[in-house]
Amino acid sequence: MSPPAVFDMIVVGSGGGPDETNLSSYLLKRAGTCWEDGIIAVEAGSGPGALSRLLLQNPALFDEPCSAADIYSYVRCYLLSHAHLDHINGLVISAGSLGGPRKRVYGIKKVLQDLESVFSDRLWPNLASWDEEDADYKLLYSTLYSDGRYQPIPPDVSVQTMLLNHGANESGPYESAAFFIRDDPSEREFIFFGDVEPDSLSPKPRTRDVWRLAAPKIPNKLSTIFIECSWPSERPDDLLFGHLNPQHLKSELRALATEVHNHKHSNKSRKSAKPQRKRQKRNPISDAELRGILTGLRIYIIHCKDRLDSVGPDSRPMRDIILEQVKSELDPLKLGVEILAAFPGMHIRIH
Ligand SMILES: [Zn+2]
Ligand SMILES: [Zn+2]
Repeated sequence: MSPPAVFDMIVVGSGGGPDETNLSSYLLKRAGTCWEDGIIAVEAGSGPGALSRLLLQNPALFDEPCSAADIYSYVRCYLLSHAHLDHINGLVISAGSLGGPRKRVYGIKKVLQDLESVFSDRLWPNLASWDEEDADYKLLYSTLYSDGRYQPIPPDVSVQTMLLNHGANESGPYESAAFFIRDDPSEREFIFFGDVEPDSLSPKPRTRDVWRLAAPKIPNKLSTIFIECSWPSERPDDLLFGHLNPQHLKSELRALATEVHNHKHSNKSRKSAKPQRKRQKRNPISDAELRGILTGLRIYIIHCKDRLDSVGPDSRPMRDIILEQVKSELDPLKLGVEILAAFPGMHIRIH
């Protein structure tokens, strides 16, 4: 039996473009609190417009009847993995119209600087500042540091930020971030990945650091991970543009499984006081050794690139096609992990 939920999440948008009504956007609150007590917006690709349409379809999406304007007035802060448009569009477009108190925008320095170039009185009016006292500005830039610490995102939530690789451009590698989002009273947490490229294609792999940090916490303290799978199967490596496909997601989850296995193994050898040196000589871990190692872990696939050309018998959303492909990649490994796809209007209880 799973422990009680610690967070509620409503998916406003879970795609990665080109459908502008379905861009990365998630509303989060602590379980047991009311939405009006304060919402953390994780990414802000889609915004109030997309939420209005979801509320028309399902007026009971939140606990009580409410409008998109009500819900966005409850947002206390935004958490941004990077400043690509499909992650900030809704925040920018709605910034001048948002009700409620001033809202913090959390991101690493570079992300906030990128956002400044949008709120520049050129692309868009300047509606944000770095100064706590500037109440005239609707948004307050708040820097996150990838220094191994948890930073409080009140009330009772903390975030640890890990940098990710998300492709490269003419000015060099482009960074995104993964967040460990923790409910402080229960110390339970989940991981939310921004866009990420395969470690196997990266000159300086970073996702493995996320897996190493996560491994000892799975599944007792950490049982939910949101991770992208932007492309369908067999999309060639030179056309990934800093994203995953099902084959690479499988490799990443195998890497996580290996870390969990290593953690359990090193715990055992510590108890039996075997020398740690042996660890380096160990053979690569076989599939058989990884069976069931991720039992209790739930993965939500996000950021699938929508298809706008779907006609004919298979008009399923791309996320359903990718979900099926990821499952068939992973099935032979029998890791025990549960795989789902996030979709707009979904209410997710995070345990
Ligand atoms: Zn994106
Ligand atoms: Zn991106």
